[in-house]
Amino acid sequence: MKIEKVALIGLGLIASSIFWAVKRTGRDIAVVGTARSSQTRETARKIGLCDTVVDTAVDAVADADLVILCVPVGAMAAVAKDIGPFLKTGTIVSDVGSTKRSVLDAVGPHLPEGVHFIPGHPLAGTEHSGPESGFAELFDNRWCILTPNENDEAAIAALADFWRSLGANVDVMDPDHHDLVLAVTSHVPHLIAYTMVGVADDLHRVTDSEVINYSAAGFRDFTRIAASDPTMWRDVFMANKEASLEILGRFTEELFALQRAIRTGDGDHLHDYFTRTRAIRRSIIEAGQDTDAPNFGRGKT
Ligand code: NAP
Repeated sequence: MKIEKVALIGLGLIASSIFWAVKRTGRDIAVVGTARSSQTRETARKIGLCDTVVDTAVDAVADADLVILCVPVGAMAAVAKDIGPFLKTGTIVSDVGSTKRSVLDAVGPHLPEGVHFIPGHPLAGTEHSGPESGFAELFDNRWCILTPNENDEAAIAALADFWRSLGANVDVMDPDHHDLVLAVTSHVPHLIAYTMVGVADDLHRVTDSEVINYSAAGFRDFTRIAASDPTMWRDVFMANKEASLEILGRFTEELFALQRAIRTGDGDHLHDYFTRTRAIRRSIIEAGQDTDAPNFGRGKT
């Protein structure tokens, strides 16, 4: 299965990074893109994002070997409904959404027989969004998880090869398991960051300038995460309700245990706990997953 024409639906951080990374491969792949707003399409044309920018998703998918939906997860169903009747037999349809069960359920019913539907999720991102935020190195040494519904070997192999060519490692996973893993590693941590920044905002005893000037002590990292796109993250929690609530429940229990240790002066409990978490940090560093991909700048291939 050869991928020679790729259609990107939605032209934000992830789609623009895919485009620059495809160009970096040097492979002969034509990329056509489209976005909902004329403003985004205009920007894309101005900065040379995509070989061709067209006005509608229907135009973009014509003759594509691979279609990647790069819109918020809440918008996937409507896009799939639009393009479904215009997909050619044999096309691979994938996405980059941060939740996978909801995408399988929302998109699958709109796709015709003969199309290979393989949802995907590159575990790479920044707090920036929009067509100018992408860069070719975003996926380097990151994981891209594919959650196929069926055993569609040739199409899975072609899509895995595509992601590897962009610098990513590829894993195949059950969609519900993906959602649980991501609730732990990404979704609930984002919610906690949003909460902590919200708490600081509400705490009027601490002035704004103090929050900003003395933010180095941990808070700064929370503010970076809490600057992530509100639409995307609203959709993530709407789409991954069960796993998010499950992990939040566990988080709350642990937090109560730590709160109790502080109140009762149980320093041993705190020390043991922090020692355990420090070890997790070390294993992340050993796996080479400790830094954000550096932002080499828009459009660099
Ligand atoms: P982004 O930079 O905000 O871009 C989103 C794109 O989707 C824009 O082109 C936007 O069009 C379009 N869009 C938004 N709402 C739409 C709707 N209702 N109908 C049709 N198009 C719509 O987003 P992103 O960060 O690239 O995220 C895209 C997907 O990747 C999301 O599903 C997200 O969960 C997933 N993801 C994100 C990250 C991350 O860190 N950002 C990481 C991994 C996966 P306009 O510009 O015309 O408004």
